Amino acid sequence: MSDKRIAICPGSFDPITLGHLNIIRRSAQIFDEVVVCVMLNATKTSPMFTIDERVGMVRRAVVRYANVRVDTAHVLLAEYARQYDNAVIVKGLRAASDFEYEFQMNLINKKINPALETMFLTASEKYTFLSSSVVREMATYGADLTGLVPSELIPEIEEKAKLWRKS
Ligand code: ADP
Repeated sequence: MSDKRIAICPGSFDPITLGHLNIIRRSAQIFDEVVVCVMLNATKTSPMFTIDERVGMVRRAVVRYANVRVDTAHVLLAEYARQYDNAVIVKGLRAASDFEYEFQMNLINKKINPALETMFLTASEKYTFLSSSVVREMATYGADLTGLVPSELIPEIEEKAKLWRKS
């Protein structure tokens, strides 16, 4: 068993926001290694970005963190996590509604993989109301995305939103 402590930060990252990045950065300070896992979420039927675009954006956003890498999962998270001996899931909690959902997910994950633990980091105050859906909505209306997503990703998100508006 490796004694490296690994955090798995899962999400759909459609697209990655500064709220996600805040949780990833804080996890990277606590754990030896962080795996950001872009989930192909079956319940979100029409993502704005393809899985490859989402992975590409996450990679660019975390490039400065030496102990963070990016992966994808096409299976349930609890199944995906089996490949690591020493991993915990780390998630961000914004509001009571996140808590209810996450509590339920945790029970399901425990049923599938009882050894798997989930830890929660509370969202930073300034990102409490930030979600990928807020970013998608704002981008679709052509609003300024400064302070919501990593600045280097703004042109790509704006470009996609233009196409999205036309379709
Ligand atoms: P979203 O909820 O924005 O669509 P995801 O499904 O990709 O995003 O969420 C992945 C994880 O990131 C979840 O644990 C979620 O609680 C967390 N997260 C998302 N936005 C924030 C934020 N602004 N602050 C802290 N955690 C967040």
